[in-house]
Amino acid sequence: MFNKLIAAILPYFPKKFVWLFSSSYISGETVDEAMRVSKELNSKKINVTLDVLGEFIKNLDEAEANKKEYLDLIEISQRTGIDGNYSVKPTSFGLLIDKEVCYKHIREIVAKAASYNNFIRIDMEDSPCTTLEIELFRRLKTEFPANVGLVVQAYLKRTLDDIKGLADLNSPEVPLSFRLCKGIYVEPEAISYKKYEEINEHYLEDLEYMLANKIHVGIATHDKPLVEGAFELIRKYNVPKNLYEFQMLYGVTPKLRDSIVNEGHNMRIYVPFGEKWFGYCTRRMKENPRMVQDIIKAIFYKG
Ligand SMILES: Cc1cc2nc3c(=O)[nH]c(=O)nc-3n(C[C@H](O)[C@H](O)[C@H](O)COP(=O)(O)OP(=O)(O)OC[C@H]3O[C@@H](n4cnc5c(N)ncnc54)[C@H](O)[C@@H]3O)c2cc1C
Repeated sequence: MFNKLIAAILPYFPKKFVWLFSSSYISGETVDEAMRVSKELNSKKINVTLDVLGEFIKNLDEAEANKKEYLDLIEISQRTGIDGNYSVKPTSFGLLIDKEVCYKHIREIVAKAASYNNFIRIDMEDSPCTTLEIELFRRLKTEFPANVGLVVQAYLKRTLDDIKGLADLNSPEVPLSFRLCKGIYVEPEAISYKKYEEINEHYLEDLEYMLANKIHVGIATHDKPLVEGAFELIRKYNVPKNLYEFQMLYGVTPKLRDSIVNEGHNMRIYVPFGEKWFGYCTRRMKENPRMVQDIIKAIFYKG
């Protein structure tokens, strides 16, 4: 209750105060800081996916600026030799303002990544975006078969059908690539599972479909029972390492992360950075008020 209250009022606190604990979850404000964190993770045999923070935009000028930021990021990250790819949120490029403009911006980013044999993951946003983001992915996957992937959310009732609906794009040469997560937005009950057990059951059902059908999957979770369920399925289908990896958010459950890496599985960490970290952090706290305990720790440990 106390944590929830703090999470609700935190957006009104000074930025410097919020940064005290947010720095555990955000790699920094600048590309240089993101590069430093990525190198550190790479040195532990962990890949990254880089995300420039900032989601909802009000006009298409912001979309243009966001595209430029990604093009620069790709250039710098490739030059630095980072072992990693990139994640984009289509609403940052105007998905809900003009989907054609959004497509053109993301196409340019995918083309840039493709020129380095790299890869762009399209994050999945809330349900008004689901169909649009699947369409966007289908279009880009057709043109850049090896350079683009999509996120799907186990809490949406439609997800298994969505995965099956894209199966025509799967091939042994260039498999489909999904990131499977639970889903982070608050969705209506009519279209989403709400209970922890139900979400986990569907997560494993979606995962089994992907592994059984040789679809590449990023198993994105910090939930130990799901990680164990994934281990079982990987054994059951004798899945080769090039068809799956585990994924986690920067700063979350590092012990579980290291134990997965120590067992020899591939791991990729989602590394968010950018000037717009404040909105990202206050949103994360509303999702998981337990994170507020970290603020309290930060106050005591960091003065
Ligand atoms: C790499 C990656 C990319 C993602 N991309 C998307 C996306 O594109 N679209 C989308 O809707 N969602 C995305 N998510 C978020 C995801 O949908 C979940 O909301 C989030 O991962 C929490 O679910 P969980 O599977 O870890 O299980 P949970 O049951 O929520 O958590 C399990 C345990 O993990 C720990 N934990 C989980 N989250 C946090 C946190 N933020 N801070 C501290 N501890 C935590 C807690 O100890 C918790 O008990 C992504 C997640 C990851 C890991």
